Amino acid sequence: MRLHTINIEEKTALEDACAVLTHGGLVVLPTETVYGLAADATNGEAVAKIFEAKGRPSFNPLICHVSSLEMARQYVVFDDTALSLANAFWPGPLTLVLPIKPDSKIHSLTRAGLDTLAVRMPGGFARDLIEHFGRPVAAPSANRSGGISATRANHVQSDLGDRVDLVLDGGPASIGLESTIVKTRNGDIELLRPGGLSVDDIERATGMTVRRQQNASAAIEAPGMMTSHYAPRTPLVINATTATPDDCVITFAGKRITGSDESLLILDLSERGDLGEAAANLFDHMKTADASGAERICVVPIPIKGLGEAINDRLTRAAAPKTEIGDADRHD
Ligand code: AMP
Ligand code: MG
Repeated sequence: MRLHTINIEEKTALEDACAVLTHGGLVVLPTETVYGLAADATNGEAVAKIFEAKGRPSFNPLICHVSSLEMARQYVVFDDTALSLANAFWPGPLTLVLPIKPDSKIHSLTRAGLDTLAVRMPGGFARDLIEHFGRPVAAPSANRSGGISATRANHVQSDLGDRVDLVLDGGPASIGLESTIVKTRNGDIELLRPGGLSVDDIERATGMTVRRQQNASAAIEAPGMMTSHYAPRTPLVINATTATPDDCVITFAGKRITGSDESLLILDLSERGDLGEAAANLFDHMKTADASGAERICVVPIPIKGLGEAINDRLTRAAAPKTEIGDADRHD
């Protein structure tokens, strides 16, 4: 697609960006932290495009950006600590990881199948856009996986090229660092990622101590720790070629394997063989399979190209005993 850049001062910027988001496209959005690669957080296929554009080799949960506390409260549950943090620091560079509401419309791919959601309220144009759009946008940093986060629109142009539908130029990011991520639980604040808001500021505002990771390597791994990844309880077999009547089969593009027609349940990630649709269905199908009472979840081979790489990465993690796979977060 033709790369299209507009300055946020342009009269049409808000409408143009909303139109792209409504149609499931990608918008590069200036925020005070870094430029974000934004999609409608409730649309799985739109969110899949974020991973595809970044070339992310794995699915990790994305931060959902909201325009108000009321909007956030439609999707997640705030405890008293989280509420005082939001009141003190929103809009701003603080992300809160909170329990998701059961009827939340945030797509499972946005939260990588987790029952928690990372939420942040940015300021300025980003907030105006989300308010106008009327629902949250998922937005990791607007750079290819492995690259550094973009703090200017021209960084994005050279890095993401024609992989996005619209770039909004809002000048250099005022903070230029990712948001600080914390998780609140039982009156406790845990630092998951240091960022643009200092721990000192959080401690001063709340009068509470922020719990940091015990050692440096744990801190590096923190944002992508195993606890931040969904895995089914039922044993999962990847690249399966046979199934029994007690198994649930997860297939792709209508493929059948030996015994799959007699299996307890068959779920197709994408009948039309579309990897974006498969990515969007992945976590929901794993959950349905897990709840089906099957003895095993047998997953047919999924092509390892494009989004197939991240799909296979997630399936491999779900199939392996948890200790087998190192899970340090990649820099992306
Ligand atoms: P970004 O790529 O800047 O959007 O980074 C998002 C970071 O937030 C990733 O490192 C995630 O692992 C972390 N994160 C997002 N959602 C959650 C969650 N529900 N629980 C724990 N960490 C999360
Ligand atoms: Mg990044």
